[in-house]
Amino acid sequence: MAGALDAFLAPVQFLKGVGPARAEVLEAAGISTNLDLLQYYPRRYLDRSNTCTVRELATADGPATVIATVRATADIKRRPRRFEVVCEDDEGQRFRCVWFRRVNWVSSAFASGDRVAFHGRAKMFRGQPSMSHPEFDKLDEDAPKLDTGRIIALYPGTAELQKVRLSSKAFRRIIFGLIRDHGLSFPEILPDDIRERYSLIEGRVALRAIHFPKNQEELDAARRRLIFEELFFFQLMLGKLRVTRTRARAPRFDAPGHAAQRFIANLPFALTKGQERVIGEIAADTRSGKQMNRLLQGDVGSGKTVVAVAAMMQAIDSGYQAAFMAPTEILAEQHYANLRRYFDFLEVNTRLLVGGQRKQQRREILQDIASGNTRIVVGTHALIQEGVEFARLGLTVVDEQHRFGVMQRAEITSKGHRPHVLLMTATPIPRSLALTLYGDLDVSVMRERPAHRKPIRTVLAGEKQRPQVYRALTGELAQGRQVYVVYPLVAESEKLDLKDAESGLQTLRAAFPDTTVDLLHGRMSSEQKESVMRRFSAGETGILVATTVVEVGVDVPNATVMVIEHAERFGLSQLHQLRGRVGRGAAESTCYLMAGVKRTEEAGIRLQAMVDTNDGFKISETDLRLRGAGDFFGTKQSGVAEFRIADLTRDGEVLTAAREAALSITEADPAFDTEANRVMGAYYNAFYVDRRMPLAKIG
Ligand code: ADP
Ligand code: MG
Repeated sequence: MAGALDAFLAPVQFLKGVGPARAEVLEAAGISTNLDLLQYYPRRYLDRSNTCTVRELATADGPATVIATVRATADIKRRPRRFEVVCEDDEGQRFRCVWFRRVNWVSSAFASGDRVAFHGRAKMFRGQPSMSHPEFDKLDEDAPKLDTGRIIALYPGTAELQKVRLSSKAFRRIIFGLIRDHGLSFPEILPDDIRERYSLIEGRVALRAIHFPKNQEELDAARRRLIFEELFFFQLMLGKLRVTRTRARAPRFDAPGHAAQRFIANLPFALTKGQERVIGEIAADTRSGKQMNRLLQGDVGSGKTVVAVAAMMQAIDSGYQAAFMAPTEILAEQHYANLRRYFDFLEVNTRLLVGGQRKQQRREILQDIASGNTRIVVGTHALIQEGVEFARLGLTVVDEQHRFGVMQRAEITSKGHRPHVLLMTATPIPRSLALTLYGDLDVSVMRERPAHRKPIRTVLAGEKQRPQVYRALTGELAQGRQVYVVYPLVAESEKLDLKDAESGLQTLRAAFPDTTVDLLHGRMSSEQKESVMRRFSAGETGILVATTVVEVGVDVPNATVMVIEHAERFGLSQLHQLRGRVGRGAAESTCYLMAGVKRTEEAGIRLQAMVDTNDGFKISETDLRLRGAGDFFGTKQSGVAEFRIADLTRDGEVLTAAREAALSITEADPAFDTEANRVMGAYYNAFYVDRRMPLAKIG
């Protein structure tokens, strides 16, 4: 099928209107081929199919478009924090536009005699219609009708693009030329039967219509087709990963043996239904001879660790090693202390591997892992990165998986002997995201919390209520309970944050003279951290002042109060994680969100969501809505942010269809050998595997 993709692959440099200087800037913006340019999708559209006069503007309700001329230089008024321009339409009626933001940039954009289309909501001001911050586009009388009289596309801009005058207008001209001259040779990359089954318009029509829609209907159809296409190829990749994996051989565990049974029998509590079910699912996976890749989603406190230990016991029973990875050293240390309680008892050698260890000690540990003497290894993700050699690794557990990116996950999965992999996360993920991020995994969900758990009471408080909050703390401390006080960590200034936490420490020591108050932060050595945590776990510390290092996983059931200072600065999922540090024992727990009255609207929504619900799924839906998919998972790592047109918070339905379509292909024709799938396969290999998604190469 050589040649099918030529029209996509040709470099943009030789297109009319580009040239070497612009080509360089475009390249830096990720646009080097025709396809890159075609997929530089508009950010928004302006409906200029109907324009109105200034007279009509006076009575228009809602946004409208007016075409007008800047008459004289005197009509352009620059002030330091305000820019104003007065224009006249063809009937000689005047109207005014003002800007209070981006004044410098806007004010250099106008000259007398310019014909400009303005789009915005008009208000009457001193008897004259007036728009603040309108969209605008200067018209070019010589050009074909690309700028007005139709729905026009606006492209994302950057300072770099501005420098070579690559405005929306310039993009429209360049893309227009590309489509006019080469549009007929754009290949169809979706198989015909898929297009028919899901009623999708042709690729070349969609590409033209996304940039130059004839009407709203056509634009909608184009969007749907291109969103489908984008999600489809991503799902194709996940489908291929899944196929590769199910073909590879993996350790075959025995039925749960002595260690696993004894572990469960000795637990001081009964398993929840969810725990029982997931333990069963894992046992089935690990006995199948195929590699397990399972994601366990369970809200904070749902008891995921027990499930992990049961799986690790099964690995031990079957003669394998198991690794347990945590996102931070503190957590690794905590889990290590916790897991040893179970494994020491069975005389299973268990080791901790973290950064702060002495060389000699580290060498010994590595030797023990390589010889198979050590059966359980607990550590951070440095475990996979530093080429640790295992004798017989059968299972890797990754705790709090949302901290690990998609790429890291692929590294774990393909490590050495293809161990079974159990990923655990307390950040429940809405379905559309799960299908995308984890579409190659099997997913288990534990919804119920251990029976005796009471919901955590969440209270929003300001400075005024601080005395009351402190009184409540005194009451809890008097009953022998413990308290966390958390300060935010703002990445730009770790030092400043530390100062916050340190002065908090002084304040609390002064306010609670009879209580032991300790400090925990990320800059302490691992020994220091460990000893602080050990004292707190043992109940020797009453109040633990901390930065967000306690965010995930830390488990001290006797702690019943969580105070979060500057709560308005935290993200929603983070707040929920922090709150999850309490409510772990049988006693009633409270979370105080201390927040100033000055806060953004979004911060208000976050805080209110916390007060309203304890349900991690609801919290994460809200969080996703507030932040958007890219940010939700930490942009670059997730791979999700790379979507150019799809939006997972919105396109759930198309996603389901695209996934179904993609899986039907990877099941029937995983190598893309059939004639019907050949162009699709060529596109997948040329554009997807190498350039967009290096992950696709790892299998
Ligand atoms: P998470 O899912 O947040 O990792 P953990 O595994 O840390 O939760 O468990 C939280 C606490 O609940 C631990 O103290 C654990 O011993 C306890 N726990 C786990 N399962 C149960 C159960 N079925 N009944 C009662 N307590 C449980
Ligand atoms: Mg945990």
